[in-house]
Amino acid sequence: MNKHVVLLPGDGIGKEVMESARLVLEAVAERNGHHFTFEEKLIGGAAIDEMGDPLPRETVEAAEKADAVLLGAVGGPSWDHLPGSGRPEQGLLGIRKQLGLFANLRPVKGFRQLLHASPLKKEVVEGSDLLIVRELTGGLYFGEPQERSEDGEGVVDTLSYSRKEIERIVEQGFESARKRRKQLTSVDKANVLESSRMWREIVEEKRADYPDVKVDHMLVDAAAMKLVTDPTYFDVVVTENMFGDILSDEASVLTGSLGLLPSASLREDGTGLYEPVHGSAPDIAGEDKANPLAMILSAAMMLKHSFHMEKEAEHVEKAVQEVLDAGYHTADLSVVNGTELGCTDLTRKVIEQITSED
Ligand code: ATP
Ligand code: MG
Repeated sequence: MNKHVVLLPGDGIGKEVMESARLVLEAVAERNGHHFTFEEKLIGGAAIDEMGDPLPRETVEAAEKADAVLLGAVGGPSWDHLPGSGRPEQGLLGIRKQLGLFANLRPVKGFRQLLHASPLKKEVVEGSDLLIVRELTGGLYFGEPQERSEDGEGVVDTLSYSRKEIERIVEQGFESARKRRKQLTSVDKANVLESSRMWREIVEEKRADYPDVKVDHMLVDAAAMKLVTDPTYFDVVVTENMFGDILSDEASVLTGSLGLLPSASLREDGTGLYEPVHGSAPDIAGEDKANPLAMILSAAMMLKHSFHMEKEAEHVEKAVQEVLDAGYHTADLSVVNGTELGCTDLTRKVIEQITSED
């Protein structure tokens, strides 16, 4: 298959881990007879420095034409003095909006070598493997009005959703569950919010189309507790924007490391933007210390979700698992017994696995 991928390395370790992802994708293409072309564009601080804009027009245009977009990370202390509207982070928020990304998928899996890196008890996190499907375009973050009263004594935020917005994210939740262990937990606050009551109704309507998927509803407060007391309960969680924001950060503590968490943000036409959950890590940038695995696993999500290359995606995931199993890791995972490598050498190990797997 021929696929065109736009690469947005961004800032800090974004550049280093992007190079790792590109090399891994080249190895996958070579092994499986695919042809990937890459086009690199500026975003974030790098784009401010060169073009005076965190999201240059040509970046958006290239991303819109691509089969998928990979993003590293944006931001860093060199741009902290800039006003809010001109900061690197605006590039990230802007591209998500411009591309119409409506669903954010964050898989969280407890790698067995890292169980003791989690602040939670090993018995609790062992075997956890869940996916949070978060709505990205609606809810409290975008509802109007969002303002202070004239006298400054009151304030309002608005939680609004259209039926269509809820339907498409709920469908995404069901589709994701169908591809996994077929259990969907819909998280809401239906005891107090009208939007949550409509959300529940829509989940109930849609479940008829997915008789193979087991569904339950959970209030967000109960879900927050269950995530850290009984995480293996969950397979796929589908929820609105703010609940998803909070729960996905909470869930990330299950793994014990930011350097292993990938994410996907999808568009209705199946293209998407794939990025690691971590930021630009200015404290270690340029030192070849970054853990490339979150970015590499994000590239694997791209293979699966945008290119429907399930087998190739599994190859990459398996290669990462085997490299960890062999004890190789970057400095952030010093809790692992084994051999510490830099970003470049760890990437090389992953590629060796991909090339040698049968
Ligand atoms: P942002 O605001 O962009 O999310 P942040 O301040 O939350 O950024 P990160 O940039 O993600 O944080 O970094 C948090 C800490 O985790 C830093 O000490 C950083 O060095 C470390 N870190 C983050 N990602 C990685 C990685 N891929 N490999 C190694 N260490 C990492
Ligand atoms: Mg952060």
